[in-house]
This record gives sequence, structure tokens and C-alpha cells, in this order.
Amino acid sequence: MATTIIQPGKIEPLARKAPWLRLPERETLFARREKRCNALANGHPLEKYLLFMARVARAQQDALNAYGKVALPEADQLRLSRRQGMPPLAMQSWRRDASWHEALRMIIEMVRDAAEPAAADSLARLLAGGGLAFESMADGLLAGDYAGMDLAAAPLVGAALQVYWVHMATSLDREAFAVSAAPTLCPVCASPPLASIVHNGGIENGQRYLHCSLCASEWHMVRVKCSNCQSTKDIAYHGIEGDSGAVKAETCDECQIYLKIMSMDRDPNIEPTVDDLATLPLDILMDQAGFIRSSFSFFLIPAEEVPA
Ligand SMILES: [Zn+2]
Ligand SMILES: [Zn+2]
Repeated sequence: MATTIIQPGKIEPLARKAPWLRLPERETLFARREKRCNALANGHPLEKYLLFMARVARAQQDALNAYGKVALPEADQLRLSRRQGMPPLAMQSWRRDASWHEALRMIIEMVRDAAEPAAADSLARLLAGGGLAFESMADGLLAGDYAGMDLAAAPLVGAALQVYWVHMATSLDREAFAVSAAPTLCPVCASPPLASIVHNGGIENGQRYLHCSLCASEWHMVRVKCSNCQSTKDIAYHGIEGDSGAVKAETCDECQIYLKIMSMDRDPNIEPTVDDLATLPLDILMDQAGFIRSSFSFFLIPAEEVPA
């Protein structure tokens, strides 16, 4: 494992025009994810899961394209949120409307023939439970409380929630949002980041953004700073020797967490959700080194958090 420590003073200041918030590109977000799954799957130890994820991403893009009108925050709510630095679509407090149930049904119908038999049973049970079962699972997932949850169906519920939140985020203008009072959480939906992305080219060249695990928005954070406790001391980078170097783990000695940082100059096709899955060996190394993963992904819910 190679480690480099960079001193904070050596990083150039933020270019004046780089946006502080990048909302997801709804026309291509999940289609790009599908393509990345297919590109990385061949010969990968997680080949089957990546190919299944490609199907899920295809279904997510279709569900997003088909999404109709939904309830959004009123103008005065948005004003208040901006003034207080509160995410207006906060994942735990936003009152979901039932439109996402349709997205979930659509995604399940499109992928269930590709699911493992045990997972297909879970999906059938979830469908039979209907809206109440969907809502109860969504509550648990968004609160990080997996007790009693049928985890085989969880990634698809997460997939539908992503579609719903991307739809809401992209139905509002960037001006609807403001820098959050909690800069380590998404300013749109208050979710923790999935990973850091360092962009390549254009005005965002070399800038680090945190990529939201729910709505896929990206918000700026200076480099060489802990995405959890905001310390700038003893930040280190760990990678797997011999790979492309595109995905590293950024660790913080203050709070002992790590978040993956993905560099698009090393690989312009990076897609955070897929590249996170595809670099599980890095998580194993970081676990062995005593660091705790701060990232959340609906597609990597650790089984040990579920009581037997
Ligand atoms: Zn978000
Ligand atoms: Zn920290």
C-alpha cells in the first residue's frame, strides 16, 4: 500500500468560477452508471453483481425519464432553508409523496428476472406488502436502521429513492439551494457522501467535490480536508499498488475514518457508485489498517449491521 501525505498549504485556491454545487445530469446519470457497470464487469470478482447493477441502473434511468410532477418545497420554505443553511429536501424530514412507489414497482419489474432466487423471493414479498412495506423500508434505510429489514430487497428500494430524489433535485434550480450549515452533508438532501470526486477539465479541473449517496448532487470541499471532522491535519492517501491510482482512500488520523477519493484525470469514466463497488479490496485494506468507512451506499449495506 502506497501512502503520500500532502500539506494543506500546497493546494491551489478554488478557481473563481467553479460552481459550489453540481446538480446531477438527469438525462445521463443512470445511463452512465449502467455503461460503467458493463465496462467493469467482465472478469471482475463481482461480475454478477455488477451486471445486475447495470440492469438496475437501466431501470432507474427509465423510471426517471418517466417521472411525472411531484410535490416540491414552496418558495417560502426554500427561502427559509437557504437562510438557515438547511437542505430543503432533507432525507429524513422531507414528506415523501407516494410517486416513488411507482418508480420502485417499475424497477422491480424490470430486474426481477435477473435476481438470484432468494432475492427474487424478497422482491415478491416486498411487492405484496405494497406502499406500507415500501415506506417502512425507506424509513429504515434513510435512518440507517436496518433492524428486521430484508436486506436482499434494500438496494432496489434505495435505487427507487435515488430516482425520486434526483427527480426532485433536478426539478429545482441551483439557486434554490445554499451552502449547508453542515458542510459534510449534502446541501440538497442532507445525506452523507458516497465518495469524493476530483474533476478533470473545464472550470472544475482539479476541484474536489463530495458526491451525494442519495441525490447524486456534488458539493465543493477544498482538498486535503477530512470530509467527516473537517480536520486538515494528518490527512493521508492510500491506494492499491499496481492499479490505475484513480481510486484512493483519504484517511483522517483525527477521527479514524476514510472516504474514497476518485480522480477523473486518471480515469474520466469513473462513476462513483460503480467504482465504489469495484474497489472493495481497498475497503478491506482500510479495515485491516483500523480505519472506519464513513461512506454510505445503498448497494453496499454491511450485513453485520443486521441483527441475527
Ligand atoms: Zn443529496
Ligand atoms: Zn476526520
